[in-house]
Amino acid sequence: MTDSTARPGLLERLAAGPVVCAEGYLFEIERRGYLTAGAFVPEAVLDHPEAVAALHRDFLHAGSDVMLAFTYYAHREKLRVIGKEGVLEELNRTALRLAREAAGEGAALVAGNLCNSNIYVEGDGASARDVRAMFDEQVGWAVDEGVDFIVAETISFVGEALLALEAIKASGLPAVINLAIHRDPRTRERLSVAEAGRRLEDAGADVVGLNCARGPASMLPLLAPLCEAVSCHVAALPVAYRTGEQEPTFQSLSDPRCACLPEGRPFPTALDPFTCNRYEIAEFAGAARALGVSYLGVCCGASPHHIRSMAEALGRNPPGSRYSPDMSAHSYFGTSDKVSAAYREFAREL
Ligand SMILES: [Zn+2]
Repeated sequence: MTDSTARPGLLERLAAGPVVCAEGYLFEIERRGYLTAGAFVPEAVLDHPEAVAALHRDFLHAGSDVMLAFTYYAHREKLRVIGKEGVLEELNRTALRLAREAAGEGAALVAGNLCNSNIYVEGDGASARDVRAMFDEQVGWAVDEGVDFIVAETISFVGEALLALEAIKASGLPAVINLAIHRDPRTRERLSVAEAGRRLEDAGADVVGLNCARGPASMLPLLAPLCEAVSCHVAALPVAYRTGEQEPTFQSLSDPRCACLPEGRPFPTALDPFTCNRYEIAEFAGAARALGVSYLGVCCGASPHHIRSMAEALGRNPPGSRYSPDMSAHSYFGTSDKVSAAYREFAREL
């Protein structure tokens, strides 16, 4: 079990400075070949735990302060859709243990993870009860496995986010509540992000924010009003893709330069040409931090190099920074006088 006396908890860390949380396990594990795009159920937790553990370690090395249990879409509804409800608890507990083991290799916190249920219907009491029961069972396993706090993420109804928040608060653990905002820059109830943030803060959220769906460029404009509206901590974890005003979400991106897209759109398996570089992620981290955001990370599309650049932009020096770029010794572009002058001269011909 985690020893809460040995390491500062989430709220203590946030009071002292920014916290980095790597997300995007679903996309990265899919890209590495251990998970099926479409259903997007993290069966890799049971089928290839070594792959999940490796990604946790990569993110830890890159500077993530949080090991987020890979239980995204490991909920009853998703497992029902793929006919595997029988492994629901084993999947959750194994994912939580993998996160805890990795966290123990550094000084990271362990977070449980809830997400959009895909069955929530606004104003429908029966669906709210089903959703709450799904959240309650996942929170129960997370508490059992000794998490430090719980994240509810990629939820686009405030009503559904409040159900997740109530389930987490009942456990007594800190709650991070992150909304996913689609093309319409409001929740699915058509509430502004600021109003949504206020309602979640009023209901006891320790951190409120945005994650997934939008990339840095289209998430940043929503953060200023959110930071102004709440006094609790604010989170921002964009997807690592170049979204913009016209196509603000990664689902809405189009790629007219490619004629071989099986779905006719880049989402979810052909987003490669839109991937943000590490400098864009670092720039986002600085801009979001300047607005007052204190819980920062990257969601779908995140790779360890993004997390390392984000951590460095926030003044951190993670283990992976030992290998951060140093072009001075490059064979052609280097500035070291140990590099052949003739080769440096040839750089312009490359
Ligand atoms: Zn995401």
